[in-house]
Amino acid sequence: MSAPLAPHCLIGDETVTTARTLPVHDPSTGEETGRIARGAGDEIDRAVRAAEGARAGLWGGLDAAERGAIMGDIASAIRARAGELAVAEAHDVGKPLKQARADALACARYFEFYGGAADKLHGQTIPFRRGYTVMTLREPHGVTGHIVPWNYPMQIIGRSVGAALAMGNACVVKPGEDASQTALMLGRIAIEAGLPAGAMNVVPGLGQEAGAALSGHPGIRHVSFTGSTVTGADVQQAAAGRAAPVTLELGGKSPQVVFADADLDAALPFLAMAAVQNAGQTCSAGSRVLIEEAVYDEVTARLAEHFAGLTVGKAIDDPDVGPLINARQRRKVGDFLDCGATVLARAPLPDDLPEGGHYVAPTLFGDVRPDDALAREEVFGPVLACLKFTTETEAVAMANATPYGLVAGVWTRDGGRQLRMAHALEAGQVFINNYGAGGGVELPFGGVKLSGHGREKGFEALYGFSTLKTVAIMHG
Ligand code: NDP
Repeated sequence: MSAPLAPHCLIGDETVTTARTLPVHDPSTGEETGRIARGAGDEIDRAVRAAEGARAGLWGGLDAAERGAIMGDIASAIRARAGELAVAEAHDVGKPLKQARADALACARYFEFYGGAADKLHGQTIPFRRGYTVMTLREPHGVTGHIVPWNYPMQIIGRSVGAALAMGNACVVKPGEDASQTALMLGRIAIEAGLPAGAMNVVPGLGQEAGAALSGHPGIRHVSFTGSTVTGADVQQAAAGRAAPVTLELGGKSPQVVFADADLDAALPFLAMAAVQNAGQTCSAGSRVLIEEAVYDEVTARLAEHFAGLTVGKAIDDPDVGPLINARQRRKVGDFLDCGATVLARAPLPDDLPEGGHYVAPTLFGDVRPDDALAREEVFGPVLACLKFTTETEAVAMANATPYGLVAGVWTRDGGRQLRMAHALEAGQVFINNYGAGGGVELPFGGVKLSGHGREKGFEALYGFSTLKTVAIMHG
């Protein structure tokens, strides 16, 4: 196993150590494998100044196409080191190796996509009064803050830092306390690939210290946050005092709706995968399946067979389902597992799992009622709740009956129903006869209601990571 990096922050192109450090644990074994820097206000301040320096210096002076070319080189460098990044991620966050590698490749793809887009977002000219020429300019915010959780560190850095850099911002990243290794590696890879010092800084530490210092820093002109609803509200409040825009991506309780006319052979692998990928620790997890009565028994029986066959193990052994991130998350998921609902299937936990690992058995629940916690609350574990409906109207009501609205999936062959459902569902993304669209770097992503606001991914993110200036010239 590769040893975790020595504790440090990446500020400018310097390796900055901190007086205090935090332990790093491998979720597959519970063993302490190293330590990370415990950055706080001072390091955040230093990182913001390094980023401002980059904006005023080399990075800010580049043409958009030059920025894009560097980002293309970063993408190639990430791709070349995807295996190494995957191993580090597997040990750091317990993500099964293939899924960790897919994250590294998705991160590379974000840098490639946004590098290609850097010189393609144009302003407009506006027909105004005679004697005027009016135009709009797309400009960077300046220094942007990126508060990243532990569940998809590489993908979230790719999608938010990639878009921010493409627009000419300089970034300060606060990774999850449990997930700093690949953030630091990516920062170093970017510098080695040609990113000017200070354009991307990484300060590990605690949320209440480094995270709060970042969201409250007067030099941070935009905050991108992914995580829990409660912390998201704190971050938004911290930024509100200086009217800094915030993008909040706060998770969900996403429904997958299966009608009786669906192609069940096509749907089944998606239904299960959307719930258990990354041990269910996915903001867009399809964590409840609403099934039309006529096929409820068939769908649940087939799902039960699938769940019973899932493999659980150490991330580095690449099972279907790895451990949860930490003991706290295991306790939280454990409470849902003990809720007394009908268990349709539970994957077996092998006897030789390391005792200190944070494992839970992937579990399929049936006959869940719409007002049960399992149907309304984000579990963030490998748990799928099955609910029954009888009409399309009831399916829509059930799908929309949670405080969240991130993603929804619909399985039906009826074209009219596909469109009606797409309009009726309260979600930022609706997938018809698929779920997740294979990651979809190009597809705008974000939520409504408690799932947050603002959009990342796709071209749409570039609007969020830039500001619009209107220039009116009166020339007679
Ligand atoms: P948090 O929302 O607390 O953490 C997300 C990020 O915010 C981390 O980098 C965290 O740092 C940081 N943070 C924490 N407190 C503050 C603060 N006061 N100011 C600024 N930043 C802060 O999520 P948790 O890790 O505690 O997970 C709890 C639950 O949140 C999960 O069970 C899940 O339901 C949900 N969640 C949703 C995610 C999503 O993808 N939408 C991702 C992660 C969690 P640190 O890690 O150091 O605390």
